[in-house]
Amino acid sequence: MAFNLKNSPLMYDVIVIGSGLGGLSSALALAKAGKSVLLLEQHNLPGGCSTSFVRGRFEFDAALHEFCALGEDGHLGYAGKLLKEEYGIDIDTCCAPELFRAVLTSRSGQYYDVTLPFGEEAFTKALEKAVPGNKDAVEAYLSLSKECYEVSQYFDAHMFLKKKRNGDVKISALHFMKHYFRYLQVAEEPYNEVCRKLGMSEDVIDILNCYRVYLGVDGNTISFAHLATMIYSYIAYKPGYIIPNSHALSLSLQEKFESYGGKTFFGVKAIHVEADKKGNITGVSTDHGFFACKGVIANMYPLSAYNGLLSPNIKVPMRERKRYKAAPPSSRFVNIYIGLNKSIEELGIDEYTLFYPGDLRYPRLTNGPLDYLQAAATHYNRIYPEASPKGTSIMTLTLEFEDDIWANVPVQDYFKTKEAIAKKAIAEYEEVRIKLYKYVIVIFLVVVTTDLFTKSNNTKDIVTFIKNKESI
Ligand SMILES: Cc1cc2nc3c(=O)[nH]c(=O)nc-3n(C[C@H](O)[C@H](O)[C@H](O)COP(=O)(O)OP(=O)(O)OC[C@H]3O[C@@H](n4cnc5c(N)ncnc54)[C@H](O)[C@@H]3O)c2cc1C
Repeated sequence: MAFNLKNSPLMYDVIVIGSGLGGLSSALALAKAGKSVLLLEQHNLPGGCSTSFVRGRFEFDAALHEFCALGEDGHLGYAGKLLKEEYGIDIDTCCAPELFRAVLTSRSGQYYDVTLPFGEEAFTKALEKAVPGNKDAVEAYLSLSKECYEVSQYFDAHMFLKKKRNGDVKISALHFMKHYFRYLQVAEEPYNEVCRKLGMSEDVIDILNCYRVYLGVDGNTISFAHLATMIYSYIAYKPGYIIPNSHALSLSLQEKFESYGGKTFFGVKAIHVEADKKGNITGVSTDHGFFACKGVIANMYPLSAYNGLLSPNIKVPMRERKRYKAAPPSSRFVNIYIGLNKSIEELGIDEYTLFYPGDLRYPRLTNGPLDYLQAAATHYNRIYPEASPKGTSIMTLTLEFEDDIWANVPVQDYFKTKEAIAKKAIAEYEEVRIKLYKYVIVIFLVVVTTDLFTKSNNTKDIVTFIKNKESI
């Protein structure tokens, strides 16, 4: 909706700041529960990272190419259930044909070119074939990972069930202890440590650690629950994709939100969350004026919220401030979007995701913008043939860097540095896969200054500030 003060009620139950997937989902859940909700977005489109852009003949998904726990009709994961059953979102989805292909030399010096299928049995078999002697460990790993996945499902299902009954959310500790005891023991332990305790060999750990390029945190640091849940959801429900791209999901969520009476104002930037002397929220000041509300959900990085957005009257617990202040940011990413004048069949590519982390015997250090740690290639037409015009194909190369690689690059060198990064990434891709450079007709490189994760494993939380629980 175009910004229009006349359409605004005097007081909203909740203002949601930011229309990324987190903001859209929160806004929709609240509007569906009968609350009056205003969604403020500084951009002129909804979706945040969940969007697409056009370059030449090609439309690229900006970010999301593998959804967790989406699943397929008749076998939906918890994200699929939430979107399709709880929210009633009508979107087309499809799934990747396999988990991934990885080309690497492990720390022990063994070369692998391994493709992992989904399905617990097939996954175990493929890993056992690649690295014999791990069957029992992989089975134990899958059983534990499944428990972690079920915990996420329990939280989701429980919240919705309870909400329907009495409007409150309670998690039963007894149920938790009885059914998820192993989860409680390992959830916060580093992923690699738990894998070792289960008897997994270091080579299998190296192969599964390929996923670090998605999370920006390696297996020695990230919690078992986090990475195991993600991998299990891919094994059990396949990596999911929204057709034609993730912006369709953003638009559907926004449309559904408005169908429940929610309002979206685009081009409106939230500047300050106002509160009275007792810390009760009174509204949000924006670059287009003030909007009164009882509660705020800020779909943004917590530190940005704590450092300036919130009225000083709102007391953020010291523990919470410290949690974020102490945590150094995780990896930075560079995404290279490529349009090719050959179809995927002509190119002979038959995998959706290729990790090419290279030779792990010589850990890479990221000292500058050319030194990336790991890379992933995504071949979109493998999952969705119409991702680009006939006779062409599109792909992205995602590169992970450990440090603030741009800190020492002078502004005048940005373009030539980006070109050098792209050339290096393509050359390394060509070493392990196929010749590519001669078919490139569109190439576009984006530096993602991400704060998706911090090294302390915290995801980019949605920060919720509510006056009191009952009021919304
Ligand atoms: C390159 C890349 C690839 C990725 N691939 C995957 C993948 O394959 N699978 C996966 O699951 N995840 C992936 N992710 C992560 C995923 O895209 C994000 O975690 C998710 O989309 C973030 O959603 P969000 O709602 O938290 O935030 P965002 O998408 O960042 O949305 C925040 C929104 O808030 C708005 N906003 C901020 N401040 C204000 C303000 N003051 N006033 C008004 N509006 C404001 C912003 O404009 C934005 O629209 C990827 C991310 C990147 C960057």
